[in-house]
Amino acid sequence: MNRILLLAAAMTLPTPASAAPLSDAIHADMQQLMTLYRTLHAHPELSMQEAWTPALLAPKMRNLGFTVTEHVGKTGVVAVMKNGPGPVLMLRADMDALPVKEATGLPYASTLIGKLRDGTPTPVMHACGHDTHMASFIGTAQRLVAMKDQWSGTLVMILQSGEETGEGAKAMLDDGLFTRFPKPSTVFAFHDSAMLPAGVIGVTPGYTTANVDSVDILVRGVGGHGAVPQATKDPIVLASRIVLTLQTLVSREKNPLDPAVVTVGSFQGGTKNNVIPDDVKLQLTVRSYKPEVRKLLLDGIARIARGEAIAAGVPDDRMPVVTVLANQATPATFNTEKLANHALDLFRGHFGADRTTILPPLMVGEDVGRYWLDDPSVAGTLFWVGGVPQAKWDAVGGDTTKLPSLHSALWAPDAETVIATATEAMTIAALDVLKKG
Ligand SMILES: [Zn+2]
Ligand SMILES: [Zn+2]
Repeated sequence: MNRILLLAAAMTLPTPASAAPLSDAIHADMQQLMTLYRTLHAHPELSMQEAWTPALLAPKMRNLGFTVTEHVGKTGVVAVMKNGPGPVLMLRADMDALPVKEATGLPYASTLIGKLRDGTPTPVMHACGHDTHMASFIGTAQRLVAMKDQWSGTLVMILQSGEETGEGAKAMLDDGLFTRFPKPSTVFAFHDSAMLPAGVIGVTPGYTTANVDSVDILVRGVGGHGAVPQATKDPIVLASRIVLTLQTLVSREKNPLDPAVVTVGSFQGGTKNNVIPDDVKLQLTVRSYKPEVRKLLLDGIARIARGEAIAAGVPDDRMPVVTVLANQATPATFNTEKLANHALDLFRGHFGADRTTILPPLMVGEDVGRYWLDDPSVAGTLFWVGGVPQAKWDAVGGDTTKLPSLHSALWAPDAETVIATATEAMTIAALDVLKKG
């Protein structure tokens, strides 16, 4: 085709949805998005204490033309843009950071000190990369506003509080996210990944993250002198037995094809060599995918704690107290299979097969699945965007056990690649859902 014909075609046909114009536009935004990223990185805030962050980002969404509501679910932000008839799509980014002392040595590393809920001071760091999520969130909003003539429907973009503690999604839902604002039929979120090289997208159809339950066991005995064990019911020995018997929940009681984890992360008891204490406190994290496996584990923990106490001859009024911390539970995120597979195809077509992969499920928690859990009218997918700098990936031959993980004080993703890739992926996913009929 000669040049004149090409020009004529460009003037009469709508712009084809090819990759180059979008990535060029994102490239032009990157300097500004990286400045925002570094600012966010240097100002991390703990879960449910986000105040500076939403105050920075909400006006940016307002300036882009969204109708913005703050303080949804305590600190969350809901930005709505109605752009003609069509479906409602929700995009979510999370805002919170972790009580971790940053050790990356980055020039914009956090030096901030926050406060745990009991008032204890703690260093705070964006060690999970939620700062990349927020920078990409603004990048995606900018692109979708600039391309408003190419989509039709309602775009709901939310900045969620408290992901790390599993509270934020529930808090926003309880505060009327789906009643005060348009309820979506599709939800997308992404998370940066320490398991993939920078710029590679991972999607997991079906379960992608696990049910996470925290369980406390107060093992009660009868204390006394360390030299007179016959006059006591030693809770240290009893708690030790409980810890060992708990191992059989995963190894003997559940179907080996169903993943599960029971980890005793804390074992606290006693004060001195020659004193048998009255009690011991165990703290567990319990992980699963299927609801029936979750129930088997939680019921089994209560049964084993009580059974071992009976075997140890503990009096009835000193049976262990098992507490499932309901306010710290995160349900598994199950990516709607049809949507996740469609997203895989879409990303493969756009980024190429070498930048798109199916990732195995993980036993970590992510509360984004709450937005579509138990509601078949909402489809959702959380996808991963690789953040491991390519040189670091190559240096270990892709063995990520040799590299910092998410939540590590050393986690320093290739933020520029994460933000650019995620912005492009979110934008094409949104345009796909909201395409003009
Ligand atoms: Zn995290
Ligand atoms: Zn996270």
